[in-house]
Amino acid sequence: MNDTSRTYDVVVIGAGPVGENVADRTRAAGLSTVIVEKELLGGECSFWACEPSKALLRPVLARADARRVPGLKNAVGGPLDVPAVFAHRDDMVNHWHDEDQVEWLNSVSVDLVRGHGRLDGPRQVVVTTPEGGTVRLDARHAVAVCTGTRTALPDLPHLDDIRHWTNREATGADAVPRRLAVVGGGVVAVEMATAWRALGSEVTMLVRGDCLLTRMEPFAGEMVAETLREDGVDLRFGVSVTSVAREEGPDGAVRIGLSDGGQLDVDEILFATGRTPQTDDIGLETVGLTPGGWLSVDDTFRVTALEDGWLYAVGDVNHRALMTHQGKYQARIAGPVIGARAHGEPVDTQRWGPHIATADSAAVPQVVFTDPEVASVGLTAREAENAGTRVKVVDHDFRGVAGAHQYAEGYRGKARMVIDLDRGTVVGVTFVGPGIAELLYSATVVVAGEVPVERLWHAVPAFPTISEVWLRLLEAHRG
Ligand SMILES: Cc1cc2nc3c(=O)[nH]c(=O)nc-3n(C[C@H](O)[C@H](O)[C@H](O)COP(=O)(O)OP(=O)(O)OC[C@H]3O[C@@H](n4cnc5c(N)ncnc54)[C@H](O)[C@@H]3O)c2cc1C
Repeated sequence: MNDTSRTYDVVVIGAGPVGENVADRTRAAGLSTVIVEKELLGGECSFWACEPSKALLRPVLARADARRVPGLKNAVGGPLDVPAVFAHRDDMVNHWHDEDQVEWLNSVSVDLVRGHGRLDGPRQVVVTTPEGGTVRLDARHAVAVCTGTRTALPDLPHLDDIRHWTNREATGADAVPRRLAVVGGGVVAVEMATAWRALGSEVTMLVRGDCLLTRMEPFAGEMVAETLREDGVDLRFGVSVTSVAREEGPDGAVRIGLSDGGQLDVDEILFATGRTPQTDDIGLETVGLTPGGWLSVDDTFRVTALEDGWLYAVGDVNHRALMTHQGKYQARIAGPVIGARAHGEPVDTQRWGPHIATADSAAVPQVVFTDPEVASVGLTAREAENAGTRVKVVDHDFRGVAGAHQYAEGYRGKARMVIDLDRGTVVGVTFVGPGIAELLYSATVVVAGEVPVERLWHAVPAFPTISEVWLRLLEAHRG
């Protein structure tokens, strides 16, 4: 391919869910936009994270729920149909093809350049194409970095030689390892341990700390740990991996050395040990920034380290909230911000205004698709207290919630509402229990809407639904 040069109003690097949405919104703001992608349009989320992981987990959680329904238990007592689960997963990721996304991009009139994009000085991006050519893209108004993250791997000798798993293999594998070690205790670790245990692996979780899901209310991790153990997962806390080696041959086992002096032999080892930003090879040094770190931004997604404000960072790469829905929310803010600035229009950054991502700090929702499900939004009690808020914590265990007991025999769940006593609003909600994921939007509306807690008394949950837990929480609050 010959070297070419083009000028656009906006250049977006990275066509994951966030980059796609930034491009869509800047186009909608009347700005010519090009997006650069080195792998598949749709990014990690569509092909190696959210979509395939939830496709693997859906039958697992549906079966767990069904087993708690009298009259159904025996009908779903058997193992999962593993090939059918994998086939469903493959369909959900469109067999790792992105032509649907290309079609959508065309429909919103965003241009695509395939290849590796790097900044090459202010407002300039150079793309190395798969054919070995280069395309130079000049941005009149803004460059948005939406390059996402990859697995953060521990610094262990020989790690590259052992064919370890990251989220990519954990969501894409089409054979069930007999023995799987999962290193980590966060969301990816618990979800993948749940999936692969149900698919038939003997799973050992190696967790450095003393609990799971440390960023959530403590009871969330405790309840997930309880079920994982009941399901046969060997859950080890306070242990880290000190060495890894794989035996020779295609079926060679991995021998894991542990910080407690023990060792563990497995067929596969998954590192679910956090995420690192993909900023090490995007030319940050050409604009005076240090490669490899997270890109800190202001509430309008401008990279704070650059003064003249043409560089934006949206989605995982800015480290504000590493979730697809939150990154897409950021894109829905950043696109109009870039548009307003390009057109010389005012930018409204008042709290909850159209050009500021207030929810990033006040109302980030998250679901963990384990058994039981965990759903949370806003602040934990500890986070609210640390922020200096005078809080009241209201807990309920789903006793007397008829809908929950209709949903599952012996329903086990817990709900927490964190109230800001001075403002009389709810600043955080956590639900743990089967079937609670769909309750989360109600909590998100309550937190983002800053609905007075007294007004919630008039928001009547239908009988008999799991939502009646709201009523029980309010009754507990009122005493
Ligand atoms: C196992 C797992 C499960 C998850 N499940 C959920 C879930 O259920 N719900 C949820 O909300 N979140 C989930 N997440 C998080 C979610 O995947 C991320 O928050 C989301 O993918 C971030 O989107 P992004 O567009 O910022 O980055 P990415 O999806 O990582 O996309 C970045 C894109 O940029 C491209 N790129 C990078 N560098 C360059 C370059 N130099 N030139 C050109 N292109 C480049 C990449 O190829 C990629 O396509 C999960 C994550 C994991 C690991």
